[in-house]
Amino acid sequence: MDKRSVAALKYVGTQRAVRLKKLGIKTVGDLLWYFPRRYEDRRLLKGLATLVPGEKATVRVMIKGWEEREVRPNLRLLRALVEDGEGRGYALWFNQPFVRRRLKLGGEVFLTGKVNYHNFLPEIQVTDYEVAGSGEDGLHAGRIVPFYPLTGGLSQRWLRLIVHQALKETAGKIPEILPPSLCTRYRLIPRCRALEYIHFPPDPAALHQARRRLKYEELLIWELALVLSRREREDGRPGIAHTRDNEMVRRFIAALPFNLTGAQERVLGEILADMEKPRPMARLLQGDVGSGKTVVAAAAMVKAVGGGWQAALMAPTEVLAEQHGRTLHRLLAPLGIPVAVLTGNTPRAEREAILSGLITGRLPLVVGTHTLIQENVDFKALGLVVIDEQHRFGVGQRAALQAKGDAPDLLVMTATPIPRTLALAIYGDLEISLLDEMPPGRQPVTTYVLTEKQRAKAYQLIRKEIARGHQAYVICPLIDESEGIAAEAATAMYQKLKEEVFPEYKIGLLHGRLKPSVKEEVMESFRRGDLAVLVATTVVEVGVDVPNATVMLIEGAERLGLAQLHQLRGRVGRGPGTSYCLLMAGNDGAARERLKILATNSDGFAIAEADLRLRGPGEFFGTRQHGLPEFRLATLPDDLRILEHAREDAHRICQENLWQQPEYYGLYLAAKEKMDELKL
Ligand code: ADP
Ligand code: MG
Repeated sequence: MDKRSVAALKYVGTQRAVRLKKLGIKTVGDLLWYFPRRYEDRRLLKGLATLVPGEKATVRVMIKGWEEREVRPNLRLLRALVEDGEGRGYALWFNQPFVRRRLKLGGEVFLTGKVNYHNFLPEIQVTDYEVAGSGEDGLHAGRIVPFYPLTGGLSQRWLRLIVHQALKETAGKIPEILPPSLCTRYRLIPRCRALEYIHFPPDPAALHQARRRLKYEELLIWELALVLSRREREDGRPGIAHTRDNEMVRRFIAALPFNLTGAQERVLGEILADMEKPRPMARLLQGDVGSGKTVVAAAAMVKAVGGGWQAALMAPTEVLAEQHGRTLHRLLAPLGIPVAVLTGNTPRAEREAILSGLITGRLPLVVGTHTLIQENVDFKALGLVVIDEQHRFGVGQRAALQAKGDAPDLLVMTATPIPRTLALAIYGDLEISLLDEMPPGRQPVTTYVLTEKQRAKAYQLIRKEIARGHQAYVICPLIDESEGIAAEAATAMYQKLKEEVFPEYKIGLLHGRLKPSVKEEVMESFRRGDLAVLVATTVVEVGVDVPNATVMLIEGAERLGLAQLHQLRGRVGRGPGTSYCLLMAGNDGAARERLKILATNSDGFAIAEADLRLRGPGEFFGTRQHGLPEFRLATLPDDLRILEHAREDAHRICQENLWQQPEYYGLYLAAKEKMDELKL
């Protein structure tokens, strides 16, 4: 990539370079790889006489006169009388008086916009214009025109201009990084051509070729980075062959207050066998909420510890880490295995003790948040890394924890159903274990979609459950991904429930803005049963386990994805007896239909699939929650085929050590750069 600063380009000054930086564009290379979000086909120039009201059109006309009018203090019209060879018409601008200075009387311009009528003549409401015959001729009209994602202070016209300039200045200097064999096999156009076409495609077919070529390149580099990083991590390290002696694991299982499900036994068998192999395990444990992943992970950790290794479990939130710590403590105390919990909030003295316990090997097992990947955390002999709710972590964070040991085994857990091929391609070489059976006695959560009018009924149901000695959640969802706003909404709801609706009950409040110690206290009193109702933001979404809670009311449910709602709902229905999920939603018919899928379905995978179908991959995978990597061009799962090819090719390149051939060198550098970027 061209590493020169964008400021080196013609038309870019320091001030605009600063604005470009806000878009993440610092170098010429960044600019060339800043791709349009959409295109407008302006190849066809229309004659004024042929314009039809309502259509969007581009014309080439001569300015014959000007008229300016102030309609209201904040509405100024600028109207030009225009003419081409066959007819006359008007051009209209709102609040852009400066346009008049840029377009000369008698000069020729391209105008694009929607057509109306004015004084019996066609009038174009101009959205884009360009002086014909100027240096930038043909950038904004008479072609397929690119539109870029922009922030304030930058215009499409200017960005087009500098991208064009960058292409001009780098013409012939953009190196090909794919070897000819791959280009031939997939019939890919050259890299420099693809860059040119993706910004300024001569026709739709060229654009398609450009996108295909650049997507493949992007995905191949991603896959190469994964394969390479794994190889570097394991280079010369044989991996750990954990003990074949499962005596301790058997004792652990015998001490459980329940029998393992068939699925748990099968999956545990897969994991234990894999751990015994000298090759480092890399396994994804998929299972719906409540399918009992924690116990399986605990058993794997027991095996590691039984053989003299250390195990670490990383969870995305403090609430969850604390909860896992407690669960594991309960399960492992009978075996004499101590469990330490390390979070950003662990008191200093305790923290010091844990750190020294880990480095000396005195502590065999630690549970924590991403605090675990900090530099000062060192292990004597880390043999197993478990990552819970892996979609909350980046690949880099996962790798960072693994790097604390010598090629330790890896078990990542998720309740997000990702199709197998996608998981493989995204996480590299993960084997997959599937927990496809729920612990016995679980009843599907009875789910209702309610409107505001039925609110009283919802409260009545909550009262009934509390009267039976049960507990309730009231969830205020994240709005705009902002925990701040959600915290406010939750606080208001909490006040209202406490003062008006349920004055007779003890109510707790939990949101992301509270101090960790307060959060922990609230969770603890809910767990103990001291609180009848817990008002919370979606912070409870992840893995909280309070079997006595039997009803959950979710406000503004239409704002959440089905998969996420299903995860939330998984917090109830964990004990014997019927549980309820009440979805409060507005009157939007489509949204209500979508929510009804939850009412008739209790299988997380089926729900995720329906969600995917209804909302499309963009929205389904579009939130921070997905755990999928972000690509510039490729979108998943749409581009799965390309991804699969890229994955195969990446493996072949590494296995056959094609790096030594000069034509692979560019790819190698790009993959290395990607590894740095991802902190792999
Ligand atoms: P998740 O897969 O969502 O992480 P958990 O591991 O939190 O699920 O398990 C949910 C609940 O089910 C816990 O209370 C756990 O003790 C319980 N559980 C797990 N396995 C079984 C089983 N085989 N029989 C009965 N209860 C189980
Ligand atoms: Mg869990």
